[in-house]
Amino acid sequence: MTALQNPVSSLKGVGKTRSAQLAQLGIESVYDLIAYFPRRYEDRSRVIPIGSLEPDVPSCICAVVVSEPRNSYFGGRSITRIRVADDTGQLNISYFNQSYLADSLTYGERYYFFGTLPGDSPYRQMTNPVTERADTPPVNTRRIVPVYRLTSGLSNKVLSKLILNVLDTYLDLVPEILPEQVLSAEHLCGVREAYRNIHDPMDAEALELARKRLVFEEFYIFAAGLKALRNRRITRSRAPYTKLDLQPLLSSLPFSPTGAQMRAMEEIRQDLASGTPMNRLLQGDVGSGKTIVAAAAACLASINGEQSAFMAPTEILAEQHLRSLSPLLEPLGVRCALLTGSMKESEKKHIREALASGDISLVIGTHALISERTVFSRLGLVIADEQHRFGVEQRGALGEKGDAPHMLFMSATPIPRTMSMLLYGDLNVSVLDELPPGRQKIETYLVNEQMRSRINNFIRRQVDEGHQVYIVCPAIEEGEDESLKSAELWAETLQRSVFPDRRVALLHGRMKGQEKEAVMRSFADGETDILVATTVIEVGVDVPNATLMVIENAERFGLSQLHQLRGRVGRGSAESYCVLFSENKNPDTQARLKALCATNDGFAIAEQDLMLRGPGDFFGSQQHGLPAFKVANLSLDVQTLQRAKAAAERADLSDPASPLAQRIDMLFSHGTPVLN
Ligand code: ADP
Ligand code: MG
Repeated sequence: MTALQNPVSSLKGVGKTRSAQLAQLGIESVYDLIAYFPRRYEDRSRVIPIGSLEPDVPSCICAVVVSEPRNSYFGGRSITRIRVADDTGQLNISYFNQSYLADSLTYGERYYFFGTLPGDSPYRQMTNPVTERADTPPVNTRRIVPVYRLTSGLSNKVLSKLILNVLDTYLDLVPEILPEQVLSAEHLCGVREAYRNIHDPMDAEALELARKRLVFEEFYIFAAGLKALRNRRITRSRAPYTKLDLQPLLSSLPFSPTGAQMRAMEEIRQDLASGTPMNRLLQGDVGSGKTIVAAAAACLASINGEQSAFMAPTEILAEQHLRSLSPLLEPLGVRCALLTGSMKESEKKHIREALASGDISLVIGTHALISERTVFSRLGLVIADEQHRFGVEQRGALGEKGDAPHMLFMSATPIPRTMSMLLYGDLNVSVLDELPPGRQKIETYLVNEQMRSRINNFIRRQVDEGHQVYIVCPAIEEGEDESLKSAELWAETLQRSVFPDRRVALLHGRMKGQEKEAVMRSFADGETDILVATTVIEVGVDVPNATLMVIENAERFGLSQLHQLRGRVGRGSAESYCVLFSENKNPDTQARLKALCATNDGFAIAEQDLMLRGPGDFFGSQQHGLPAFKVANLSLDVQTLQRAKAAAERADLSDPASPLAQRIDMLFSHGTPVLN
């Protein structure tokens, strides 16, 4: 443990209050303080003569106070006035409500002032400039000033000063984690130079160099972490499955699998027979038939004497999986069961006993399934549906359950392959790039408010025909932006004024888990006609009877997200539709939305989305399960990610106590060590 790990309270001038403020910002150790990067910068480095001041341009001057500071009061406010001068001219300065300044400003002394001459005033006068004595070290003037995220009671000046002090004492202790060859090959500055310049940039160029280095470093740590996860798995071994016959399952299917499904099953079969734990991501558009591929894996586990746990993001989905899988698997001798939080205690107990004794081969539930005190007799396979809900660190933790079980993650987010290789580098990937035959295109229309009553009629017609309708709104409740439809208000309006004779329900992310489940269940059971929801239904259930998806303020959503939402309909035999409402006339937006109307191919849409919005937004809203990068920006720094990944392939990960290993743990964890 180095001095960098010392608590901030060990620093001079940091007492209880200060520590608590810093803790608010997530700063606990000396290192945290050094690694607390500015949000942005204000360039106050250029000092100019008074004669060169231009209106409305924030500038820094160096001048002598040439009048006794005068305090006066006006309308309840105190005003402090001074006059300052340099060789090129004079200037009046006033401060409002800073009467203490009158005491600290001294006639005849030299100061730096940073402020603006208002262009709309006839007087050459500066108000409330940032002021620093010329004989003190520069903090808030004469440099590129870092602007930090703050918390109440802690000013930018105090935080900057604290960080500058810490850098003076501790910077030499910060270890260099990038190897010499990488630094020179990538033209990166050393770690100390980078930390110094990110907080106290000499000039714009130094700042850019610092940022470049820190972005690289962050990606390098990320990539090395993925490599560590992969290594750990490769070094673990487990008995290869020897019974690999899928014919019984395949011949009992009511359809023949697509080529893509066959390929994915074959890849999984090889993983299971390999002698190392499987670690595979199964990607496929909504409706591409991932479930049956997972069933094949569970089937193989079972005939090789091992149990499987199938984790779904919601209880309803878990129930649905059970309903579709048990008729297929039970006849083959695979005993299936459900285990969810809302089941009766006695039922749960019963299922747990059967799991512990090995009577049950496949248990389906939410991911609480695995964190609860559930004991397996021989857990061999973990299947996680909608893997983007699981972070890298959770992927690591899951692998710890059972004795290095095989892992299969499923995702309906069609991430372009290039991107998934970078981001999920610790996983092997199978792609279902083919939909089962006979799927009909979901007719998609882009409309505006003028079509409102016609669309309402259309909704009514669908409901009259016995079908169900989803309506997705971008907001939960009424907010500042009145142009945004809120689910709460819209559900109420529709129920009261438009469809009083129909059953309208509301679903959003701020509702309690049980409430949500109840609403979803009622929709799945056909007891609700129209479900007004936020994007919580994105990873939704299979309600084949739902035939119409209406999306309000469609411009607010990413293409991939819209596609995902659209995938909630068209799951049955009836013809299905998607209606995108947008008032946005921006040609780019219109083009984006029209692209969605033109194709149903999720991968094509994902590629387009990635191109149009960049990966940052594409993987936005924390759906990706990636760690939070501090400096790096996925949408701007993709090439750096690529290079860092290549460099990290050669990283030395042999010592779990090395500085690199510690940084990997910090990036990924909230507690779960990735190494050792
Ligand atoms: P998803 O990939 O979205 O999870 P599912 O596994 O839920 O897709 O499959 C969607 C529907 O398609 C299910 O009703 C399933 O039985 C059916 N299905 C899967 N594979 C095929 C196939 N090869 N041919 C016909 N229907 C299929
Ligand atoms: Mg699915």
